Amino acid sequence: MATQENTRKFIPVAKPVLDQSEIEAIKRPLTSGWVTQGPEVEAFEKEFAAYVGARHACAVSSCTTALHLALLTVGVQPGDSVITASHSFIATANSVRYCGALPVFVDIVPETFNMDPDLIEAAITHTTRAILCVHQLGMPCDLGPILEIARNKSLFVIEDCACAIGSEILWHNSWEKIGKPHGDIACFSFHPRKLITTGDGGMLTTADPEIDQKFRLLRHHGMSISDRKRFSSDKVMSETYDILGYNYRLTDIQAAMGRSQLQKLPEIVKRRRFLAQRYLHLMADIPQIRLPDEPDCARCNWQTFCVYLPERCDQKSVMQYMLDRGVATRKGVMCSHREPAYQQLEAWSCGRNKNECQCPPGTCRNLTYSEYAQDHSIVLPLYTQMTDEDQDYVVSTFTGACEHAD
Ligand SMILES: *Cc1c(COP(=O)(O)O)cnc(C)c1O
Repeated sequence: MATQENTRKFIPVAKPVLDQSEIEAIKRPLTSGWVTQGPEVEAFEKEFAAYVGARHACAVSSCTTALHLALLTVGVQPGDSVITASHSFIATANSVRYCGALPVFVDIVPETFNMDPDLIEAAITHTTRAILCVHQLGMPCDLGPILEIARNKSLFVIEDCACAIGSEILWHNSWEKIGKPHGDIACFSFHPRKLITTGDGGMLTTADPEIDQKFRLLRHHGMSISDRKRFSSDKVMSETYDILGYNYRLTDIQAAMGRSQLQKLPEIVKRRRFLAQRYLHLMADIPQIRLPDEPDCARCNWQTFCVYLPERCDQKSVMQYMLDRGVATRKGVMCSHREPAYQQLEAWSCGRNKNECQCPPGTCRNLTYSEYAQDHSIVLPLYTQMTDEDQDYVVSTFTGACEHAD
């Protein structure tokens, strides 16, 4: 439908904050000639660690590769299982399968879209090695109980913080950034859909120097000497390859861009928190809508603003109605277990005895909140440059879509 609104404006779901300062920043590596992992990566790591309050930060090519290295580093291998959420971007579960291990999915708490800690213990078996929790859509998950279970059962905790840069949790009475990390390792993404971007890119943080060293080996082919070390040495150095590594490096061009983005992050978080509060206020009176809930001990960066539709509203119709009027939306977060890539028998488990769970492909009765969230929620536009007027327009279009369903 070619409405007048349609030609007048288009409101995307997300938009990166890029300007002349990123263009200036990437001139540094382009001028110096050091374009892959080098001094800019080193500086980006230091600045990132300082921002999240981490002892160590190691840059890699994406959050997906960060998750892979995190799981490998805590020893996840074929025959192991890792407890995680199906209701996440597919990279979360895929990273477990890269290690030859089995993702064991537990359901979410509907209000936060995050893993329900009460379901974890029942999913633990003698093969469980780690818990891979997700701070979904930027909302900190319930780390306290997750870490307590992990400590009691001697499991590693890896945090998928892809969406959560700049989010905070109340930890022993003070606010701390997600990614300190509170578990053993945290993994971040710099994909353009996240708060700051390097095109593609990722970061691993940890408090453990040995774990950090392992990341550095693994991201660079398992090579014992870094390019930078060799370059700055006046002695001829020859490297060895002690473990099976990968090429998961971030480039210095990306890191230069990341350093510029990092400087903008406090303002980005502040603006997103303002806009999210404004959404909550503007939409409070829409009948039967369920708005996202920020727990008292969490400060969300609102990487994504996702709402549950009134029961009578069809997800696809609402999205089409809004798109016809120039407002882009997305479906709620996917469920990995419903994708074709997860239809093979041994691709995943829901943590219950196989005989107890004989659900047909594409559904699981132990993951009902995950499936409900995917089918009954939509993502509304939220980006730093969004004006109050843009936001008012989104809300009125959304309200119209809900009324249209009556
Ligand atoms: C975006 C995202 C990823 C993947 O990040 P990449 O940097 O694109 O690899 C992983 N997990 C979650 C929860 C994400 O949202």
